Amino acid sequence: MIDVRREPLPDEVDTVVVGTSPLMLLRAYEQACNDRSVLILDRSEIPGGAWNSPPLLGFESVESGVHLIENRRRVYDFLQRLGIELSENDRHAGGAIGPLGIPLGFARALSFWGVLGKSIIGRDFGNAWKSLPRAIRSSMAFASGFRYPVGGANEMVARIIDRLRHHPVDIQLDCEIDHVRLDPDRPEGVCLSSRGNVRFKHLLFSSRAHCMVRMGETELVPKCVSRKIVNLLIRLKGGGGIPVSYLEIISDPQLRRARDVTEFVRPLMSTGERMLCIELRGDQSDSEDRIIETALERARRYKLVGTSCEIMETRLVAFGYQTIPERELRRLSESHGSLNGVRTTDFAEELVGVLKDLDNVRR
Ligand SMILES: Cc1cc2nc3c(=O)[nH]c(=O)nc-3n(C[C@H](O)[C@H](O)[C@H](O)COP(=O)(O)OP(=O)(O)OC[C@H]3O[C@@H](n4cnc5c(N)ncnc54)[C@H](O)[C@@H]3O)c2cc1C
Repeated sequence: MIDVRREPLPDEVDTVVVGTSPLMLLRAYEQACNDRSVLILDRSEIPGGAWNSPPLLGFESVESGVHLIENRRRVYDFLQRLGIELSENDRHAGGAIGPLGIPLGFARALSFWGVLGKSIIGRDFGNAWKSLPRAIRSSMAFASGFRYPVGGANEMVARIIDRLRHHPVDIQLDCEIDHVRLDPDRPEGVCLSSRGNVRFKHLLFSSRAHCMVRMGETELVPKCVSRKIVNLLIRLKGGGGIPVSYLEIISDPQLRRARDVTEFVRPLMSTGERMLCIELRGDQSDSEDRIIETALERARRYKLVGTSCEIMETRLVAFGYQTIPERELRRLSESHGSLNGVRTTDFAEELVGVLKDLDNVRR
């Protein structure tokens, strides 16, 4: 259980961090290790950002934002250092792709090598250079089994928050930053929030945090890409269907990812029941009934839901988000010395950089 109190905001801190995703919490930790007083603000009442995994359909914590902690040793080491138990799940070795059930690891590695090959043929050597480590990593990563933290992402968020409690870090939820005011001639700025104003020397801004940023009369509003994801959660009873723990379907543009999340949550239900989470990206203008119908039809076509298993309950969870493109984030950082845009798109990839920075601070 994550318990974060709601208290009056301080007038002034060294660093304001916007957002409570695990990576932003770790960035806050790094600031604290640098002897800075830190205030973390989130407009949500629950910490974790997109990693918040609420109780749904009788399961204790469901990864409704779909979060794959890629099979990278550094991530597992980090989770274990936090004292988190990892559930071994190599039974299905990462699931399968498409109706033919091609093993996920193989297909993923193949697609990364494909991107590399395409870049070389297209003489896009910059992209090729970037793709090479991904191709190598993906090949190595999925060769071993797939593991997930027991208690899901909530457990990870809770453990990081526990670590933060030993430092001068204040986490305030239910606090929306309406806009940020900067003076071109002064190194510090002011956050105007729903619960008062805070002066800061540094502001860390994640790629999914958005509010008006104004320097003098100039608006530095970052350009955001808006998306909406719909997750269809299905509570199933009995066997049937492909028994995978993670299933990614790339052959269909609308049903991109689907996975059975049983292994990722602590089921409170009787044995024999499991949950299937289907992530849909695409045309969301359809009615709710139509979305459910389409998803179920596809789930059957890909044999996710077999004839012998009963659908007990379905629930549609809409998840909207905006992302500041990397270029805009960089531009924002360059505009004023106190602003720092933090790239947070891929947990496993970014975590390596964050941990390296943390090690440097501690040394
Ligand atoms: C559908 C989906 C699937 C994903 N799957 C994966 C995956 O499988 N693996 C992976 O590594 N990554 C995945 N990601 C990426 C994931 O979003 C990032 O790993 C990470 O959560 C981004 O962190 P963030 O802090 O930028 O954004 P978020 O996690 O979205 O957090 C932003 C926080 O800032 C708060 N906020 C925003 N604006 C304000 C404001 N004005 N004032 C106060 N608070 C504010 C929000 O309430 C939110 O809590 C996925 C993302 C989505 C949307």
